[in-house]
Amino acid sequence: STQVRLARRPVGEPADSDFTIDTAEVPALGDGDVLLRTIYLSLDPYMRGRMSDAKSYAAPVELGDVMVGSTVCEVVESNAESRPVGTYVLAFTGWQSHAVVPARQTRRLDPATAPISTALGVLGMPGFTAYAGLLQIGKPQEGETVVVAAAAGPVGSAVGQIARAKGARAVGIAGGAEKVKILRDVYGFDEAIDHRSPEFAAELKAATPDGVDVYFENVAGTVGEAVVRRMNTYGRIPVCGLVADYNATEPREGAEPGPALLRRVLTKSLTIRGFIQDEFVAEHHADFLREMGGWVGAGTVQYREDVVDGLENAVDAFRGLLTGRNVGKLLVQVGED
Ligand code: NDP
Repeated sequence: STQVRLARRPVGEPADSDFTIDTAEVPALGDGDVLLRTIYLSLDPYMRGRMSDAKSYAAPVELGDVMVGSTVCEVVESNAESRPVGTYVLAFTGWQSHAVVPARQTRRLDPATAPISTALGVLGMPGFTAYAGLLQIGKPQEGETVVVAAAAGPVGSAVGQIARAKGARAVGIAGGAEKVKILRDVYGFDEAIDHRSPEFAAELKAATPDGVDVYFENVAGTVGEAVVRRMNTYGRIPVCGLVADYNATEPREGAEPGPALLRRVLTKSLTIRGFIQDEFVAEHHADFLREMGGWVGAGTVQYREDVVDGLENAVDAFRGLLTGRNVGKLLVQVGED
């Protein structure tokens, strides 16, 4: 198996030298095990947290271990009746080309229902994050204004489209003209703005003439502060991610201090609620697969994927994810479909 292992804890932006790429023998299969060949590896912002030993909601990857991550794989050897050779599965085998795992740690995928790669994006964890965070916490009502940043990514694009499916007005924020055009033309956002524009605050104001009822927080930083200033009374802020800060080594200069935010929470009766998508899986994942599967099948929800070739390019692609180089769900093609 070709494997990418964490060699050092990155300081700031991850460097190539923080990882090693080498090959290892795959172990023999035990009873109930399958040998998996990786087709797609998902690269996701949470991985920056796993590279670090700062306290978080999940344990870090140990130095010398294979980087973690969700994968879509094909079963190439099987000791499990439920997963015959040739079955496609969703697994959590990380940044490597082959792995032996118990079959029960995999979920079977049906390529006839949807392209297998979607199990890592629009019909996978990012899509579910959007679905659960928006509907359970954001609770958009018809005619309300929903704002989301990183809006061209898998979470943000799903947030905007689900908001519209529920009758809300969706305003997307992304970096650069290409992504802004995609927000309008592919995802159907009512308004789309570029956070790199020098006129960002004025453009946000013009795009939200009635204020903001739901701000789905993906990025934090200056973008988050600008949107929070436009919140309406009884607004809701599902806090999903803070990707603007993931490489930060110290607090940002000029950041609005906590007390100013709390004053706004008080005077506008805002609800701010963080979440990790796992908490909603037991209760809502089946609904998600049914409802989102229907929307994707009907074309109500569109998605895009940004596929990078080869494990040797994973670290560089991951760097690009934190700075917005990716356009759509970032995947590494590890083996042939
Ligand atoms: P994306 O593919 O959208 O990638 C992240 C994007 O963030 C980049 O493409 C970039 O887009 C944007 N970005 C980076 N820095 C900044 C900045 N300073 N200001 C504004 N935008 C910035 O990622 P995902 O859709 O996979 O994830 C989106 C968020 O959701 C992340 O914060 C992630 O951690 C979080 N998440 C949380 C989960 C949970 O359970 N709570 C589960 C899954 C994801 P652009 O070019 O537009 O700037």
